[in-house]
Amino acid sequence: MDERLRNALKAITEQQSGRDLIDAGRIEAAGIAGDTATIIVKPPVAGAPDLNRLQPQIEDAVSALDGIERVRVVMTAHRESKDRSAPAAKQTRKSTAPTVKPAKRIIAVASGKGGVGKSTIAANLAVALAREGLKVGLLDADIYGPSVPRLFGLTDVPGLRKTDAGVQPVEAHGVKLISMGFVVKPGAAVVWRGPMVQGAIRQFMLETEWGEPDVLIIDMPPGTGDAQLAIAQDLPVDGAVIVSTPQDLALDDARKAMSLFEQTHVPLLGMIENMSVFLCPHCGESSHIFGEGGVRAEAERAGLAYLGDIPLHPELRSRSDAGEPAALDDGPVGKAFRKAALAALEAADMAGKPAPMITVS
Ligand code: ADP
Repeated sequence: MDERLRNALKAITEQQSGRDLIDAGRIEAAGIAGDTATIIVKPPVAGAPDLNRLQPQIEDAVSALDGIERVRVVMTAHRESKDRSAPAAKQTRKSTAPTVKPAKRIIAVASGKGGVGKSTIAANLAVALAREGLKVGLLDADIYGPSVPRLFGLTDVPGLRKTDAGVQPVEAHGVKLISMGFVVKPGAAVVWRGPMVQGAIRQFMLETEWGEPDVLIIDMPPGTGDAQLAIAQDLPVDGAVIVSTPQDLALDDARKAMSLFEQTHVPLLGMIENMSVFLCPHCGESSHIFGEGGVRAEAERAGLAYLGDIPLHPELRSRSDAGEPAALDDGPVGKAFRKAALAALEAADMAGKPAPMITVS
């Protein structure tokens, strides 16, 4: 291995063992060809995959070397987990096929429970960013209750098309969309076991022809079960935005969602408060129906960024039902979404520089 490359990698510590990447045996191979450095990293012997954490560190260290313009960080996947004590579900999560990170930034929008407006926010963040001129994809991973078809007025899409280039997303309001709702009929129950859900989400994320978007937003399934864990652990997510309403009960659930991402080393980008203040459409008065400032206080307690608040507004619900996201215009709700979307984007940029990531078996 090139001596300079070796020294750069020796300066990075593996969190699990406290040793540097070379001594910890984490580097499968590393080399420089022209102006491109390629580093192939082995997964940790035990514990969660840590590429999200290591990738930016390796990129920073190696891109500082003279003459290096591009850094490719590749992590090999276990065919079989060596950690025999790990639960069976964890072992099945190991990747078996070559995968490429499908977007420059991947942001998961999550909540501890359903009904707090997570899907509404994921959809409107996507629309707000598309209005800023970014190329945006939205993956509706809420496989049991997909809402993207309704939120984008696409309830009559007959199915998804697959070509040699991959599954073709449906485009609306400037956003490329994939949802289980395009595949199953509305109201039809999807009775799937955990691994099938994980497989479907993985396939949607990695086999869709997204067209290299600037941002891919994932509308996570609500809650903190196996499907959520699998997405956080197995897919190349750059960071998570936590949505909550201001009540204590919702905040308790939000904490569980935060803990899931912390355990899987996915950076928490910050929190968004939904239904923070009721804006009366008639008199324009505002009232704090669910209490005031609960999410901001929680974000401060957890040391997270507060990305913004979305008012409770009847028009948001009616426009959502009509397939016309409120972020399409510049009223108070649209402005709130724009502000939160830009804050989330900035947090994602700070969490990790965009770069290609490949997992090979
Ligand atoms: P989740 O994805 O958390 O289950 P949804 O996004 O489906 O929640 O929202 C649940 C319901 O609440 C929907 O009918 C939606 O239109 C409505 N809703 C969400 N946020 C707001 C808001 N800020 N103001 C008014 N209605 C809202």
